[in-house]
Amino acid sequence: MRVDVVSIFPDYLSVLDLSLVGKARQRGLLDLRVHDLRDWTADRHRTVDDTPFGGGAGMVMRPDVWGLAIDEVLEPGGQLVVPTPSGEVFTQRHAEELASAGQLVFACGRYEGIDARVAEHYRAAGVTVRELSIGDYVLNGGEVASLVMIEAVARLVPGMVGNPESLVEESHGAAGLLEYPVYTKPPSWAGLDIPDVLLSGHHARIARWRRDRALERTARRRPDMIAALDPADLDKHDVAL
Ligand code: SAM
Repeated sequence: MRVDVVSIFPDYLSVLDLSLVGKARQRGLLDLRVHDLRDWTADRHRTVDDTPFGGGAGMVMRPDVWGLAIDEVLEPGGQLVVPTPSGEVFTQRHAEELASAGQLVFACGRYEGIDARVAEHYRAAGVTVRELSIGDYVLNGGEVASLVMIEAVARLVPGMVGNPESLVEESHGAAGLLEYPVYTKPPSWAGLDIPDVLLSGHHARIARWRRDRALERTARRRPDMIAALDPADLDKHDVAL
């Protein structure tokens, strides 16, 4: 999979050399390229922004500079991701969809964001453009939002996560639940013992206990996810919600 990130702060993306994403790059699973938007400017000051039409505070990123950058970086069939607090809220479903793209180009906005014609222009040209928010708060730029989305997408790329089984029961997975609580050694710590059932070696009982805890935790913390469950997916042993 190829991922391109365009930003006026390319160094912000240097953490993509670390951890699982960094290893995936080294192993050739992820072709990740970071670009400096200012490389597509033509003036002495390498200007990427200007004042907003209609007045108001702040600066807006120029569509002409973004157009040159995207035209050069976007491959046929590639998708354009524009992080913005006014976008659809990014979820695991978006991550799954993005993971099946051949190429993703992340356009990191700054200031008051990118001139709205950029998304409009590429959509009209038949490009899949996704304007996505990572949550209901405002960051200074699209770099951190892109990092969040790239990490969520990259771990779904086959071969990225060592044991693919670990993706199966995760929060926000196919079951539509949060994950159950997890424990490791030592079995007793700070006066707290792990639940006996986890030491029983009885796989069916452990699976039942985990599903009950996942249902309880989801009902308590994310009633919206419980409401979205298909009743057909609940079995007769599920705890009363
Ligand atoms: N004036 C914009 C608004 O109110 O929608 C906010 C611009 S914000 C200061 C600058 C850039 O940060 C945005 O263009 C976007 O790239 C990024 N950004 C900020 N918050 C974000 C969020 N919650 N999700 C995704 N990107 C975000």
